[in-house]
Amino acid sequence: MTDTPVRNTRVPDMATPLWEYAPAPESRDIVTIDSSYGLFIGGEWVEPSDGTMFKTVNPATEEVLAEVAQAGRADVDRAVGAARKAFGRWAKLPGAERGKYLYRIARIIQERARELAVLESIDNGKPIKETRDIDLPLVAAHFFYYAGWADKLAWAGLGPDPRPLGVAGQIIPWNFPLLMLAWKVAPALACGNTVVLKPAETTPLTALLFAEICRQADLPPGVVNIVTGAGETGRHLVEHDGVDKIAFTGSTEVGKQIQRTVAGTGKRVTLELGGKAANVIFDDAPIDQAVEGIVNGIFFNQGHVCCAGSRLLVQESVHDAVIDKLKRRLGTLRLGDPLDKNTDIGAINSSVQLDRITELVSAGEQEGAQRWQPECDLPERGYWFPPTVFTGVAQSHRIAREEIFGPVVSVLPFRTPAEAIEKANNTPYGLSAGVWTEKGSRILWMAQRLRAGVVWANTFNKFDPASPFGGYKESGFGREGGRHGLGAYLAGGVH
Ligand code: NAD
Repeated sequence: MTDTPVRNTRVPDMATPLWEYAPAPESRDIVTIDSSYGLFIGGEWVEPSDGTMFKTVNPATEEVLAEVAQAGRADVDRAVGAARKAFGRWAKLPGAERGKYLYRIARIIQERARELAVLESIDNGKPIKETRDIDLPLVAAHFFYYAGWADKLAWAGLGPDPRPLGVAGQIIPWNFPLLMLAWKVAPALACGNTVVLKPAETTPLTALLFAEICRQADLPPGVVNIVTGAGETGRHLVEHDGVDKIAFTGSTEVGKQIQRTVAGTGKRVTLELGGKAANVIFDDAPIDQAVEGIVNGIFFNQGHVCCAGSRLLVQESVHDAVIDKLKRRLGTLRLGDPLDKNTDIGAINSSVQLDRITELVSAGEQEGAQRWQPECDLPERGYWFPPTVFTGVAQSHRIAREEIFGPVVSVLPFRTPAEAIEKANNTPYGLSAGVWTEKGSRILWMAQRLRAGVVWANTFNKFDPASPFGGYKESGFGREGGRHGLGAYLAGGVH
């Protein structure tokens, strides 16, 4: 990785780099990656029944990292069987005992945080400063938070005798692999469920290391099972009769398929799907802070964020000033080696995702929007896309309607608060939104009218395990995080 230098970026109107950074690569020595991985079922590593394997690659270099087992129907059946077998005893444990296991897992995650952060950056392509400072602290915080709930379920306002649902099938995407695992596994276990988790096919490695952490924590066999594979493996899990609950985070398209499959089966479902969030900047906003919020809103994690502020709504009177400052700021972002501690923008997670971003950006240009990118050298190997700003965007453009899931922001001007609301809500999605203004009354006025599960005020992309998260409309239903997140794993609870 050290041979992929962090590129000097330049502000567009300057001939010389703004400043130079010496490479500051995090060592990957702390991580051991095996050449191949089996499935984690019933506390043991097992081979896939038909021996099929797939490769996971480092998106920053295209280096093959490992071969990983592809679980077929029989393997999923075995994993669900192991989870069912473990369920009786796990559900009957006093909550305080389950909490001890979760606290132990949380502490091991903290102890092994650097190893997990480096592995996540290698397998996913996201910058080490994000995995180290955001993903991993939040992962540990989730386990601590739900460990604390395990013996207080009867006081959670979800009925006097809350009971676990049984076996939870959990399917997660590649954008925050370990964090999405934590969002799913921690509340499920705290409530007394057992789980079969399927990580995304491009980012299985931290989930497999988490399996080792479960062993290290002496978690009873079968309480957590991890089956790797692609969509087909996920489908087997969704279709399995022995699964009581499906918790899915991923695309709206797959979410709809899942809903069709489970309709009428009695399985409980939560769906955390796509988004096309509006980040609304009023003319009384602190502009420099708002520009930082815009950058964090859409360029954090290469824009691979379901709640990313991908539609930037700017009040007309400050539109030009905001865009000028934003461009200048983007000229200072450093794109390159995800393991370099100076890197702001890492690699796109896969060639498939890069193709999707490229296709939508071309559509934006063809439909008449103006594309702007800072001068920025892209590494020769790996999957990369520069930060991109589209101005002159109309509501009808695909880049204003479809989730790009990349470092691309579409700017739409507005004149009045009412127009901002109309534009912000003019989307099939409803996951998140941001409002930037100095007026508290306007924040409340906007928050009451924005059809979004989360509304941030004068900040963006802030997460906390105590805070529920989830969508409206095609962004899905159900809430993860906070007390609400317990309801999704308890009989009779809100979900
Ligand atoms: P995806 O839907 O293609 O895949 C998500 C997971 O589902 C993967 O593990 C995949 O293997 C599995 N899968 C694919 N087809 C399946 C099927 N037919 N049945 C069961 N499982 C199947 O999504 P992705 O490209 O991995 O992730 C990006 C999407 O996830 C974006 O739309 C993003 O907005 C969304 N997302 C949402 C949230 C949220 O909390 N709302 C969080 C992160 C990502």
